[in-house]
Amino acid sequence: MTRLKPYSLSSCRLVVLSSDLQTELSGVWIRGLTRDVILTVSHFKKDARVPATAANTTAEVYTTLLGNGIPNPQVKCELFHDLNDPIGENDFAIFTPCGDGNHRSPIQSIPTALISTAATSLSGTAISFGFNASPAPADNKHLNTSVHDCTCTNCWYASAYNVSKNLQGVEPPDPRVLAAGARTIGVGKWLQTAGQRQVRHTVTGWYGISGAGMYTQDARGQVRLVALFQSGIFEGPDSNMNGAVTIPIDVLRRLEESGGA
Ligand SMILES: [Zn+2]
Repeated sequence: MTRLKPYSLSSCRLVVLSSDLQTELSGVWIRGLTRDVILTVSHFKKDARVPATAANTTAEVYTTLLGNGIPNPQVKCELFHDLNDPIGENDFAIFTPCGDGNHRSPIQSIPTALISTAATSLSGTAISFGFNASPAPADNKHLNTSVHDCTCTNCWYASAYNVSKNLQGVEPPDPRVLAAGARTIGVGKWLQTAGQRQVRHTVTGWYGISGAGMYTQDARGQVRLVALFQSGIFEGPDSNMNGAVTIPIDVLRRLEESGGA
């Protein structure tokens, strides 16, 4: 686990506010030359009538120190670049710390050199670090077990019920695994899909994990950030699919432009 510590520490939780619409996401803290950046997905809630910009889209970013649960002070960020491709192949957004606070996180960041854009040629164990979101209060109009494309507590359990129906003989996880705001780790297999952008993997994800970094080893055994978790179980009724979006070269260049080293 010691070897994985930097990757775990680089995981962060974002509360994104865009035109007064709030979304909880996971993200990866990346060390820049002049400032740090936070990479996440672009499918946060937005006002469809106006582009998401630094002026109307900010985030509070939280990390925790591994093992002792002491939260670091939150860092205020603004949107640096939005590829604005929700659920598509360029589902990425980049935030940068703003305001007068410390723009650095000396421990909780990874250099851009640890990002691989060759994800589909790799295979092996895959690991993801993210943070659970807090489900919205139960909407009492949503009492049956069909999912309403909603993240209220009732739909959260309804969705879990739908997924569990498809899994014969699998024990449900300990509820602490899904505790709001908790750092989580998911482990599975990264499956080689050379020649395609769409990757396949068996790592489990759930609400809040969107934007969580996914890691596997390259041919030299170096653990690399290869993708972000893209979609959870709220894709639709009975959905149990977990998408991942691999990091393309233009996103890596954007990270470098924004101060990456
Ligand atoms: Zn609901």
